[in-house]
Amino acid sequence: MNVYCILEVKDGDAVATLRYFMSSWWKIFGFDMLLAPVETHDAPGVAVTVIENRAGIQAINPFAPLMPINSAALLSRLVAEKPSWKIGAIMRPCELCTFFELQKRQGWQDYPENLVLIGMDCPGTYPVPEYQQRLQSRTSQVLARESLQDAAAGGLRVQPLRTACLVCEHPAPRAADLTIGTIGVSTDQVLLLVSRDEVRHARLGLDQITDGKATEYQASHRETLVGAMSDMRAGMRRTLIENMPGAYRFNDLGSFFAWLASCNLCGKCLAACPLYELEVKGATSRRRKQPGERALLSELVHLSRWLASCSGCGMCAEDCFQQEPFSLLITSISHRIRQEMSYSPGDPEQTLPWAHS
Ligand code: SF4
Ligand code: SF4
Ligand code: SF4
Repeated sequence: MNVYCILEVKDGDAVATLRYFMSSWWKIFGFDMLLAPVETHDAPGVAVTVIENRAGIQAINPFAPLMPINSAALLSRLVAEKPSWKIGAIMRPCELCTFFELQKRQGWQDYPENLVLIGMDCPGTYPVPEYQQRLQSRTSQVLARESLQDAAAGGLRVQPLRTACLVCEHPAPRAADLTIGTIGVSTDQVLLLVSRDEVRHARLGLDQITDGKATEYQASHRETLVGAMSDMRAGMRRTLIENMPGAYRFNDLGSFFAWLASCNLCGKCLAACPLYELEVKGATSRRRKQPGERALLSELVHLSRWLASCSGCGMCAEDCFQQEPFSLLITSISHRIRQEMSYSPGDPEQTLPWAHS
């Protein structure tokens, strides 16, 4: 059962409060490394950074509404390279989802006990140019505060977010060890900390560094607004897909190939996807052709499994000149495949479709 605690926000500054909390936690839990979004002076203003020194926590800003990369592949690599290290990772829901889908492909039964997954509620992120433009008149701390206000209000304000975020299925993390709850939360006063269960809560020493249990209202209000935000975004997804020009609706193979004709095959989308490399590229290059083997079917299985596992992070669309239709295309194909297969990416309990292949 989830354990809901609060952190009292000092001087209305949620970023500083989170930094103080993470620093205290590092001290008592003995982290060796933390992966987190950090403010930088260089563009785009936030970078996912490997922190190996507690002092480095003073630059983290996971609330800044920018997602420079999907950090799941980096975390997977770090965990494989440093199996005995106590690693913490602060991630958005789509990054966590990708991490679990990667983990299933690594054949792990469960992630190591010394890995601590810290998920964040996410009201959405801006495209890089939009974020940088805003950064000219505000600091990243101010942008973080505005994003937190949006989260508190359940994401109702119309914002020029990335298309992937406008149609995001899971604005709240699933299966994180600890979730930093901000949706429906008055973050100028408190942050909600949600531990996945009592055992983890005790093992991670969270009682020592939190400010007591949340009220029933605080917990249930967040759950209600998370549900409302998911529903609102599902509605947005349906509307945007319905309103796409006919050529992008892909009701048949012909319209898909017609769309493909406008793609310049630059490959940036595939290079940006943490799942593609492992599921499709790796699998097809490793495969040995056997007499009678149905090569095309095998490749279609890998393609379908890749799309079934899609976390909706939208990184593949970021550098595509057809950004909007591409993001919607991926999400629409992915939803159709998982519906057929009753598969929900990001659920660590579910095995991959066609797990034997
Ligand atoms: S896709 Fe969802 S989880 Fe990922 S950044 Fe956008 S809103 Fe956040
Ligand atoms: S990034 Fe866009 S243009 Fe480039 S290969 Fe992908 S879909 Fe085609
Ligand atoms: S296909 Fe695109 S949206 Fe899906 S996981 Fe890969 S990068 Fe993210």
